[in-house]
Amino acid sequence: MSNASPPYGFRFADPENSYASLPASMFAHCEPTAVKAPVITLFNTALATSLGLDAAALNTPEGAMLLGGNTVPAGSTPLAQAYAGHQFGHPNMLGDGRAILLFEQRAPDGQLYDIQLKGAGRTPYSRGGDGRAGLGPMLREYIISEAMQALGIATTRSLAVVSTGEPVQRETALPGAVLTRVATSHVRVGTFQFAASREDKASLQALVDFVIARHYLQLKLQLQPQLASDSGSASNTALVLIEAVMDRQIDLVVDWMRVGFIHGVLNTDNVTLSGETIDYGPCAFMDSYHPETVFSSIDHQGRYAYANQPAITQWNLARFAETLLPLIADDPEQAVAPATDLIRSFPQRYAEKWLAMMRRKLGLFGEDPADEALATDLLKWMQSQAADYTNTFRDLSSETRPEGAPYDSADFRSWYDRWQARLAKNTKPLASSLCLMRNSNPAIIPRNHQVEKALDAASSQNDLAPTQQLLAVLATPYEDGPDKAAFKAPPAPEERVCQTFCGT
Ligand code: AMP
Ligand code: MG
Repeated sequence: MSNASPPYGFRFADPENSYASLPASMFAHCEPTAVKAPVITLFNTALATSLGLDAAALNTPEGAMLLGGNTVPAGSTPLAQAYAGHQFGHPNMLGDGRAILLFEQRAPDGQLYDIQLKGAGRTPYSRGGDGRAGLGPMLREYIISEAMQALGIATTRSLAVVSTGEPVQRETALPGAVLTRVATSHVRVGTFQFAASREDKASLQALVDFVIARHYLQLKLQLQPQLASDSGSASNTALVLIEAVMDRQIDLVVDWMRVGFIHGVLNTDNVTLSGETIDYGPCAFMDSYHPETVFSSIDHQGRYAYANQPAITQWNLARFAETLLPLIADDPEQAVAPATDLIRSFPQRYAEKWLAMMRRKLGLFGEDPADEALATDLLKWMQSQAADYTNTFRDLSSETRPEGAPYDSADFRSWYDRWQARLAKNTKPLASSLCLMRNSNPAIIPRNHQVEKALDAASSQNDLAPTQQLLAVLATPYEDGPDKAAFKAPPAPEERVCQTFCGT
């Protein structure tokens, strides 16, 4: 394999900050497998620039060689990461079976970012898989991850999709593609589970140190013994980390609930320590509101249904806490008690943040004891009407009372009057409420039927125009306008997409 020449703005991590500084069992050095005819299909110029990369140089035929995995940047040492994970509740050995960390980029903001190729060929963790990915699923990840970013939700990013010129065989033959995924790291709960399964305390400690340095530097202050005893907070590194990770995961799942996002495969290998949404497989946004909504074709029991996401996140965090028990205390009983207390505090912490989020969706300032009932009663009404989740909140964000079906009902009017009475108690003017609501309630989400239409045009007709158009609208999801009507409309019955697939 030849080396790529370097004028792309690459700024690699120092060796000691790199994933490769972890114990050797945590990863395997391996290089991408070249593809037949790499062509850049989508390129994210804004992201490239924010990473300090030279977009003009990368978005070229030479750049396609690099982002397709045919050349490797001089001086980089690509690797695949080892990890385990509970898939639908069952433990498994996994690892990057089709993803290769090409290098870690030091961005102008000082943060390190993983630059990873997904679909880059087989690795030592591929098991029976071909290491490849289809164009449709990679475009889907690009569209939805970038939509999440624009919605203000923590997420891995998509730098580029490269078509490979090779088919991948799934149920049918699909055009192949490689996605360049960007993340502040790819460390997952499953990464800790891998080290714990080997009873490898040294690797666990190294992972904790890596994660704190990469994602939770502010905890270092809290961990100074003097400060910790003064403030009454725990000085046990592992416990402090569990609490910090829990906080970020709660913020994340609250954000998903806010916009009606259903991840679809909340296995422990799909939960990042950074708090970024990862692994856009069968995820989808809910159209009409129902708490039990499931799209994933493999989620038969509804384990990862919309309303189960907080409880599943708590379950996943419990698995994370278990991995750290040997670092909390030598005596297992002494370790279990404080870890259990922390995990049990999840529902209360979640409930508080969820309610604060619903207050923002409803334009409520301050706190009133009846706020929670006001929010849940609206959701119950939406469920009874199969009302569109996004459009209902957006309709409420306008100056006047929404009219027409389903709003012309006594039930809705009585709820609306209660809400108006509560708004009247706000300490801020109505304009402030409307502004808060319009920044909390998107007008545009990546609706499944729109996404599928765009992907179909790209995969079967090689027509990227609908994808580009969709990406443009999704870039400003809180801005409404007459030109956006087509993207706001819920699916007609014949357009409804009820199932999504992992696409692996
Ligand atoms: P995911 O469903 O993407 O979370 O993947 C679960 C596991 O399967 C991970 O270890 C992936 O790397 C692996 N995997 C998924 N698709 C493939 C593939 N086509 N070839 C090899 N490994 C794969
Ligand atoms: Mg995964």
